[in-house]
Amino acid sequence: MGDYRFTHSCNVAEEAVILARLYGADAEKAYVAGILHDITKEISKEEQLQIIADGGIILDNVQKNAPKLWHAVSGSAYVRLRLGIKDEDILNAIRYHTTGRANMSLLEKIIYTADYTSKERSYPGADVMREKSRRSLEEAMMFSCQFTLQKLSSQEAAIHPDQLFCYNDLVLKGT
Ligand code: FE
Ligand code: FE
Repeated sequence: MGDYRFTHSCNVAEEAVILARLYGADAEKAYVAGILHDITKEISKEEQLQIIADGGIILDNVQKNAPKLWHAVSGSAYVRLRLGIKDEDILNAIRYHTTGRANMSLLEKIIYTADYTSKERSYPGADVMREKSRRSLEEAMMFSCQFTLQKLSSQEAAIHPDQLFCYNDLVLKGT
């Protein structure tokens, strides 16, 4: 991967450890999931599809048309198949770091959030997101879900069901 992606991965790992300590998750797992979360992001589409197939995963219609979603799926398969990591929570944290999903584990929430709050991130709202992440992971996730859903709908892009399930879950659990 390129320098930017490598720095981002290190920063997400570092941020994930901070959040793990704050919310009582396993800091080592948080570091591992954080550093590996974008492991396949810069490999070719063909290779990603191959890894996904090797992992026995069939992409749904929305995923097929959204290559940006592939790296989470291929990353988790890569880490399982090529690196031999068997911890389901780490694998799921990687797999769902882009869309989120309903009923996320604490580690999944940490990686999803850390991806938006790593220290090189400078999008408008990054500081708000950081501040929220120190108060409540769910509050931070709601903020990023709102942003993502608004952006996708304004672009008339498809919304993956897991993204909606993630949002609904946050609403229904009273974030
Ligand atoms: Fe990613
Ligand atoms: Fe990332």
